[in-house]
Amino acid sequence: MATLYFHIPFCKRICSYCDFYKVGALDLLPRVVENMHRELDERSTYLSERRLTSIYFGGGTPSLVAPAEIERLINHAREKFDCTDVDEITIEANPDDITEEYVAALSQTSVNRVSLGIQSFDDRVLQFMNRRHTGEEAEAAVKRLRMIGMDNISIDLIFGIAGFGSNHLDESLQRAISLDVEHISAYHLTIEDRTRLGLLMRKGEYVPISDEESEREFLRVHNALCSAGYDHYEVSNFAKPEQRARHNSAYWQGVEYLGIGAGAHSFSGDNRTWCTSSAKEYAEGKFLYEGEELTSTDHLNEYIMTSLRTSRGIDLEYIAERFGTKHVAIIEHAAEPWIATKSLVRNDNRLAIPATHFLVSDAIIESFFA
Ligand code: SF4
Repeated sequence: MATLYFHIPFCKRICSYCDFYKVGALDLLPRVVENMHRELDERSTYLSERRLTSIYFGGGTPSLVAPAEIERLINHAREKFDCTDVDEITIEANPDDITEEYVAALSQTSVNRVSLGIQSFDDRVLQFMNRRHTGEEAEAAVKRLRMIGMDNISIDLIFGIAGFGSNHLDESLQRAISLDVEHISAYHLTIEDRTRLGLLMRKGEYVPISDEESEREFLRVHNALCSAGYDHYEVSNFAKPEQRARHNSAYWQGVEYLGIGAGAHSFSGDNRTWCTSSAKEYAEGKFLYEGEELTSTDHLNEYIMTSLRTSRGIDLEYIAERFGTKHVAIIEHAAEPWIATKSLVRNDNRLAIPATHFLVSDAIIESFFA
């Protein structure tokens, strides 16, 4: 099995924390979408696996593309791959794009999951992040999607934001819970150099919260969402029963994927490539790539890293079969201190980090690296 990703690198407004590749030149969008069809024709043989299980439109802001164009890309994928097992087609959307016209058009497509970049329901926080929507518009977006029968909605939230007191996070969590969405991704704010927030921090105008406060907020998110019936199944992801994100879960399980679009990454099992074209070059039909071959050690480290961030953890039997028993012995030795402090739990052949300790997963993961 494999998955397919379409990257739409356009945004109407740049959020103050965002370090992703994106551009504001919306006039390029039609030509970029047209060339995504061409790239799909040229790159479909990159995957050895012909059966897809999910399709994902990410960005940037995929909701800037007309739903009919999204459906045309999905239909093109159906010509190139066996899509009979595709049971999840997700589009990321900004809440203020979710108008009545948009949802009416979306209901005519095969998209069956929407991931909304809400981030917060507090208008002060949204303004600080330079988001385009308000908390009220975010709630209205979820309700509009429900009206067309969209029964698989994920929302993104950001925590770990300094300067707004302690209540805004709890209020956002309660508003998210009351919307009864199927899935919530909650990310800790990270401050990257090349962002507006990075600049504010360098000038001393933004002071991040302390590590202790980060941990407290992480636990508040965990406790609030788990008490509301969500399963904390990955560091940043929470799902109602049977509602885990299939596309992202496939990434974490090392499944092949093909990425289409400027800035999109692909993974064939043996190597990883990424399209380095700017949106302008891409619109001109220039597809430039870089890549790297993965060694057995890379594979093992990636397996450790992605698996330990999920509640499934790592499977020592799989490691013995795929990489050799010597690695199992090394990992078992490295695991001892973490098990002693209850930061890691062993269940038969599985080692997993309890969700409440996910925040320290980096230190545990590094200690296991080959
Ligand atoms: S909408 Fe998303 S991709 Fe665009 S600037 Fe904001 S966070 Fe970044």
